[in-house]
Amino acid sequence: MTTHNIVSVSGGKDSTATLLLALALETENLQAVFADTGNEHELTIEYLDYLEQATGVSITRVQADFTTRIAGKRRFIETKWREQGVDEFVVLAALEVLQPTGNPFLDLCIWKGRFPSRRAQFCTMELKRDPMLEQVVLPLMGPETMIMSWQGVRADESIVRRYLPECDEAGGGLFNYRPIIKWDVPTVFEAHTYMGIKPNPLYSQGMSRVGCMPCINCNKAELRAIALRFPEVIERIERWERIVQQASKRGAATFFAGASTKHPKGPITEMTALEVMEVASIRQAVEWSKTARGGIQYDLLIATDATACSSAYGLCDEGELTLTLEAA
Ligand code: SF4
Repeated sequence: MTTHNIVSVSGGKDSTATLLLALALETENLQAVFADTGNEHELTIEYLDYLEQATGVSITRVQADFTTRIAGKRRFIETKWREQGVDEFVVLAALEVLQPTGNPFLDLCIWKGRFPSRRAQFCTMELKRDPMLEQVVLPLMGPETMIMSWQGVRADESIVRRYLPECDEAGGGLFNYRPIIKWDVPTVFEAHTYMGIKPNPLYSQGMSRVGCMPCINCNKAELRAIALRFPEVIERIERWERIVQQASKRGAATFFAGASTKHPKGPITEMTALEVMEVASIRQAVEWSKTARGGIQYDLLIATDATACSSAYGLCDEGELTLTLEAA
């Protein structure tokens, strides 16, 4: 029986600590895997190169490919949308942008005609779980193999994670192993220090999580920090919104709204945080992120120094997800 130890890394502190723990334990047949969503910050991509070089563990990069599904969507639009009487202008506009770009996040949204949302978080499965399973895990599975999927999740991150076991079996000899489930944040950083590994520099640049930038689940402070320090990220999402709107039958798709059509007119002022985040364009959401609670007053305490160091050490580590075998 051969055991393969596969560590899912996101470039975040928890998955890095998990990889470092595996190294410290001299784990055999160890490999690391990074699912590149195409919506990562370049500092995370650079950090993975550093991590690979500093640890000597090669990190396999996997990406989802939506070429076939986009081709199928084109055929669907050319036939079904026309049969349904969709305006020819809308059909042609959608066909114009329904081409694979090579960026998994954007291609997923073009194919779906919408962005993922809190209620329909298909990005995790499509961009992280499935490529990891299909390109790395499934080819290794067999009657004589056991696969340990090391995941850097911690119980104090969320109520769901609080009740995760340290180890469970997904089936077919595949196990989810969560060796740092009981660790706290200081212990995670101690592991970096002990092994002489720097944390992702995004933590010292105002980011409270490492993963997609932005993540569809990012909060107000994170969005404000991203807009302040990395305005090019907001510009990229604006470009993506225009493309995905064109691929949408309703012509309405925003980064924080999925397929919502409830676009507010004018500046956001009195909507609740959740409502705002679920209807606004990225630019409107950024403006809202600069406001105090309720959105009426601008927050006088807003940080304006983009070089200031601030870290909350929370983490959106959606990449370290539980592997299940169905629908893979
Ligand atoms: S980090 Fe956020 S946006 Fe990226 S795949 Fe995970 S949930 Fe989706």
